[in-house]
Amino acid sequence: MITLALSKGRIFDDSMPLLKAAGIEVLEDPEKSRKLIIGTSRPDVRVVLVRASDVPTYVEHGGADLGVAGLDVLMEHAGRDGAVGLYRPLDLNIAKCRMSVATREDFDYAAAVKQGSRLRVATKYTKTAREFFATKGVHVDLIKLYGSMELAPLTGLADAIVDLVSTGSTLKANHLVEVERICDISSRLVVNPAALKLKRDALRALIDAFESAVAR
Ligand code: ATP
Ligand code: MG
Repeated sequence: MITLALSKGRIFDDSMPLLKAAGIEVLEDPEKSRKLIIGTSRPDVRVVLVRASDVPTYVEHGGADLGVAGLDVLMEHAGRDGAVGLYRPLDLNIAKCRMSVATREDFDYAAAVKQGSRLRVATKYTKTAREFFATKGVHVDLIKLYGSMELAPLTGLADAIVDLVSTGSTLKANHLVEVERICDISSRLVVNPAALKLKRDALRALIDAFESAVAR
C-alpha cells in the first residue's frame, strides 16, 4: 500500500490533475465526505487528508509514504527536533504564490530598515522571517500569529508582516503594500526516505509519473 498525504483545498485540488495524469482517480470529494482516508482507482494507493502544515510530519514519521507540501511549510519544518529528513525529488509547480514582507501604505520600510531600529514583524512563518531578516542584518522582534496576519500592522501590533501573497488583493483591501519579496513559493513532492527504499519500484514509478505530468 502506498499512502499519499494531501491537505484539503488548494493542494488537493491542484494535485488532482497530476494524479489523473499518473493514472490515479481519487474516489471521494473531501469537501463532501468527512472521511480522512480516501481510496483511489488503484487498490494499492490511498490518500490521507491532513493539515497543510502537518504533511511533512506525516511523511517524515512514516504516517504517509509521500505527500504534497508548500515550500513555505517545508521551510518552517526543516531542522525541527526529531527530524529524520525528507526526500524532495520534485517541484510540482502548483499552489504558486510568493512569501513577502508587507507594511501599511504609510509606513516607511526603507527608512526603518536603514536606521537599524528594531522592526516588529508579525507572522506565521517565524523561522523563515528570522532567517531572512538576519541575512539582511535587520533586527526584528517576531510575533507569532496563526492567521489574519493583515490585521497586525493595522492595529499597531506590528510594523510589518511576513505572509504569502498571490494576487495582492487581500493586502490592497487592507491598505497594505508588499515592500519586499522573500522568495517564490510552490508545492513540492516529499517522500519518506525509508519508504523509498522499501517500496522502491512502486514509489519510483509514481514519482516518474508525477514528473512527466508537471506543467513547465
Ligand atoms: P492550515 O489550515 O494547516 O493552516 P493553510 O491555511 O496554509 O493550512 P491552504 O490555505 O490550503 O492551507 O494553503 C496550503 C498551501 O498553499 C500553503 O502552504 C501555500 O504553499 C499555498 N498557498 C497559500 N496561499 C496561497 C495563495 N494565495 N495562492 C497560491 N498558493 C497559496
Ligand atoms: Mg490558508
